[in-house]
Amino acid sequence: MWDVAIEPRASVARCYECGSSPVFALCHHCWRPGCKKHVRPSPRWARKILREGSGPGLAKAPVYHCGGCAHGKALTAGTTWRWLVIVLGGAALAVAGIVTVRLSPTVGAILLLTGGLSALVAMLHVWRGVARARTALPVPLLPKAVDVELTEELRGEITLEGEGDEYRTVLDPVKGELSVRFTFGGPDRERVRRRRKRARTHDAAVPWCAGRILLSGPFGIRTGDEIAGPILPLDGNSGDHAVFRPLDPPSSSPWKYRRRYELRTEPKIASGPIWITPSIVPDSGRHGLELDVQWVKFGPDEDKPLSLRMIELLRLEFPVRWGEIHTWGLLDEVGTQPRATVGLGGEGRQFIELKRITPADQEKDEARTTHVTLAIRFSGQVDPGDEISGRVTAKMGGTLSGVTGVTLFNSLGGRRALGRSASVKTRVDLGFRISLANIRYQALRVDPDRAAEDSNRDSYADTFDVVPDDEAVIALTNAMSEEGYYVKHVIENPPRSGRRANEFQRYWDIKGRRYVGVYPVDFHIILTGEEVRSGGIRPERGATKVRIVVKGAYTDDEMERTIREEYKRLRDLTEATLGRKSPMTSETG
Ligand SMILES: [Zn+2]
Ligand SMILES: [Zn+2]
Repeated sequence: MWDVAIEPRASVARCYECGSSPVFALCHHCWRPGCKKHVRPSPRWARKILREGSGPGLAKAPVYHCGGCAHGKALTAGTTWRWLVIVLGGAALAVAGIVTVRLSPTVGAILLLTGGLSALVAMLHVWRGVARARTALPVPLLPKAVDVELTEELRGEITLEGEGDEYRTVLDPVKGELSVRFTFGGPDRERVRRRRKRARTHDAAVPWCAGRILLSGPFGIRTGDEIAGPILPLDGNSGDHAVFRPLDPPSSSPWKYRRRYELRTEPKIASGPIWITPSIVPDSGRHGLELDVQWVKFGPDEDKPLSLRMIELLRLEFPVRWGEIHTWGLLDEVGTQPRATVGLGGEGRQFIELKRITPADQEKDEARTTHVTLAIRFSGQVDPGDEISGRVTAKMGGTLSGVTGVTLFNSLGGRRALGRSASVKTRVDLGFRISLANIRYQALRVDPDRAAEDSNRDSYADTFDVVPDDEAVIALTNAMSEEGYYVKHVIENPPRSGRRANEFQRYWDIKGRRYVGVYPVDFHIILTGEEVRSGGIRPERGATKVRIVVKGAYTDDEMERTIREEYKRLRDLTEATLGRKSPMTSETG
């Protein structure tokens, strides 16, 4: 009845037996992933006989088997035991022969011969069995592994042509790359040499195995030649690397492991991952330009969107006619103030380039910043008929494929510990070309009207019967955050004594911003009041005044109306929050 498109869910690498994740180890025979219960290390005696790994890092490492392969192994080990029993039996027979030889030389000789022969044959069987079991698998190696990186690149172009055109972001298909830098050294060469010696071929190419790479998390990668699934083989041949050369080998050989991929389904980010909004600063005589860079929430997991780590590059190109850059600055808090490079481009254009902008508070989840604004003042005038262009690249934590981690497993199936954990990230790289024609008629709206505000300040303040304290301020800012307002700062002036000895004047300054679409609307709230104390630490009563000013740039009537509504919205919110705290209402209600 309903037309419902069901999208295939990206699979996650899980235990082959019980389906649990994360994966604890891999079976080093069939490489099936398993939990702690279903892929287990071999018992000590089996390891002693089979000696599956050798050299530093592998000789004492646990050897992992799944249920199926452990069963097969136990069987061969069982046969080995049977042959060992024959060896012992034969030896006993031979000893009996030596004892009997004095009584009856013929019987003694027969016993000695059959016992000795069967012991010898059985012994050879055991050796050959063990050797065969070992050489059936590739030589287990353990190359050094550094710089484990998985990077997905999201490239695109933002355009806004002349008047009337729409803001557009066109994205290219996501490109992913997994890379690790391996180095084969002396111990690996020794392992290959021993295998050749055992096989009695000193220069033959022998296959080796360096384990597996496991990509954890939802596997939203389109499978292909380079990546066939979440578990990737690290197999090869001794002929591939100079370090395994029998003659004159180097002390080590680097191996750059690199696999490229695309996504199973392209991400749906209709509005684009980053928004660029220029505006000519109102009241600047057209000397000021602000460039707002805002990133939106996106990613395969709605509850855990990608998080911006750093804007690696912000480059703005503009006409030479605008003159020199007088001043520039970032209007938002950043981890470290970046340096700017200014220069001339071709075709009558110049540029300013900022590198490594780290927005503050990226670690804290609640107060996560979602934009930075670059403000520039030019010696000449900004012409609204002109076009700006440039590029922004950003590094974000998380991936679009869903992959959350990269884990290395050694050739015996155990998890490898890395010096530095894998870097799993997305790089956003957007070019932009934006005509200022669309923002030509921009003006500034301040609510309440500035002239009225100056002439009669108090008439624009709302008064509440609540004590002006931290509690009231926190209640208000919490309510604002819940409603999508970004509170930039809350500053409290030290309390001052009032008209009477038991009265105190309090003052808070709250500033912040809310986005309506891509347009920022700034607000400024001044909360003042008097508290009355009578001996105790807590004030017994007080009165709080709240004055709100809302400011925003607009290009059309609708936007202007939005700013006016924003003022009303904030006023209603204040009334609802502080009105509820008022003792008057709580008594009556
Ligand atoms: Zn399991
Ligand atoms: Zn197995």
